[in-house]
Amino acid sequence: MAKVGWIGLGNMGNPMSQNLVKAGHDVVVWNRTKSKADEVLAAGATWADSPKEVAEKADFIFTMVADGPTLHAVAFGDNGYIAGLSAGKIAIDMSTVSVAESVKVNEAVEAAGCKLIRGPVTGSTVLAQSATLGILASGDKATYDKVLPLFESLGANQFYVGGADEARVLKLAINTMIATTMQMEAEAVVLCEKAGLDVGQVTEVIAGSAVGSGICKYKASTITEGTYPAAFSVKLMMKDLDLALDVAKQYGVPMLSTSLTRQQLAAAAATGREEKDFAVLTEVLEDASGYTR
Ligand code: NAP
Repeated sequence: MAKVGWIGLGNMGNPMSQNLVKAGHDVVVWNRTKSKADEVLAAGATWADSPKEVAEKADFIFTMVADGPTLHAVAFGDNGYIAGLSAGKIAIDMSTVSVAESVKVNEAVEAAGCKLIRGPVTGSTVLAQSATLGILASGDKATYDKVLPLFESLGANQFYVGGADEARVLKLAINTMIATTMQMEAEAVVLCEKAGLDVGQVTEVIAGSAVGSGICKYKASTITEGTYPAAFSVKLMMKDLDLALDVAKQYGVPMLSTSLTRQQLAAAAATGREEKDFAVLTEVLEDASGYTR
């Protein structure tokens, strides 16, 4: 069994780290807010006082944090995990960050005589809990092969997509489709609601229809209930679309739907919904349409 370190115990990191404990690994964790470690510690993990200590105690060091600046905050500095690396260890970042942010971490990890696997994920908290995430990985192939058994404890679908930061771009591209799908569903749902149809039936029919992709299925209940607790927040989705639109600018790809959906997420944030699930786009459109449930 492997000595695994885990940094970042948010909505995703918490269930993912617990799955590694369940798989029998020796897991050491750190999170900025220590109380969020209660569950994984109760499951059998141990606590480290800093990201540096995590890297000193583990051979595989996972990070699953909010964004690029946070990844840099836990990687660099006196207490960052890179200060705790020794040659031969493997770092794996599963957060959604930009290529530029990732390159900077990779350079520092390699300078410490180690390798970095980029392993962003598709799927939400429900799939994190059931260990059925999709994992898009890139980086050194021989290193990936060593990490694969750990990935198999976290996800059902494994994709190795290249030797460097390819997984970062693919992850952002997929999230543009996920976000625009939620905007499309918002438009369909509010249209039907105003025409007098039942929201629960509408989301059920959409989920079972030709356009009923995974995301329509996972979000059907929260749209029906209209409560929107964050599985994936508006704030994080805005971050991802901003990163995707930067890539689009770099390669000269006009991304119309993504740009419009980004604006509607801004409307969600500006009306106090930044910490809600991004499926709250339906509620934003209900307001804009003068519709109250
Ligand atoms: P989250 O619940 O907001 O958790 C964010 C994590 O980052 C927490 O551990 C948080 O620590 C930490 N963090 C934030 N700012 C920090 C700082 N300044 N210093 C140190 N730690 C900091 O996010 P999540 O939903 O788990 O998402 C994690 C990553 O996975 C993101 O990159 C996201 O885009 C990606 N992702 C999410 C989903 C999803 O459905 N949620 C799906 C696919 C990919 P605290 O606990 O102390 O706040």
